[in-house]
Amino acid sequence: MVDRNGKEVTTAVTNLDIHDIARSCKTFGVQKYFVVNPEEEQRRIVSAILNHWNGELSLSYHPARAKALERVQFAATFEEAYNDAAFESGAQPFVVMPDARDLKAYFGENPSAPESSPERPWTYAELRERLSSGLPGDSPAESRVLRPLMIVFGTGWGIAPSFFGKVDRALVPIRADREENRKYNHLSVRAAAAIVLDRVFGERV
Ligand code: SAM
Repeated sequence: MVDRNGKEVTTAVTNLDIHDIARSCKTFGVQKYFVVNPEEEQRRIVSAILNHWNGELSLSYHPARAKALERVQFAATFEEAYNDAAFESGAQPFVVMPDARDLKAYFGENPSAPESSPERPWTYAELRERLSSGLPGDSPAESRVLRPLMIVFGTGWGIAPSFFGKVDRALVPIRADREENRKYNHLSVRAAAAIVLDRVFGERV
């Protein structure tokens, strides 16, 4: 992640993010929610939170919460999470990155870049369309090996540009419909995750 000055840092895990994002994942049918952090101390904190909510007393008082937390898994690195998802699904994950920033500043603005290049962010309508018609690199339909979708979210002041090479597609920023409300779009990661999951997997009503 980066901090307010753009310096690369490791952030601390927030208790609320674990619960709230786990509930959103459960609601929209996400198979796994990886909390990625390289610090051993953070692994201990996440395990303590998960053990607490999976304890017998909590299970009887808050069964719905325990159900949501079943899918949370700690990983020390993005690669560990990626490899786990690849192993479980039998195909390489397709990595998308929602972001509040206009990423042209990082990916560069190249008007002649082909439609398939990663620097061209997808809209949510495009992503939904791709999920139903097939993601780039999916095996032919008869082999039924479909790439799992991996959605990466940041903390702190956002994902560091040094990570962008691992992303298959950026997604357009979530922002207000009306032009005059577009100056601010810095959502908490919990809110962003709920909106993104609804846009990708939610019922269209
Ligand atoms: N401390 C903060 C909090 O309250 O959660 C962490 C902020 S962190 C930068 C928020 C993350 O949510 C971003 O890295 C990005 O993944 C996502 N996010 C926030 N606003 C967004 C937006 N407008 N569009 C897309 N993603 C957004």
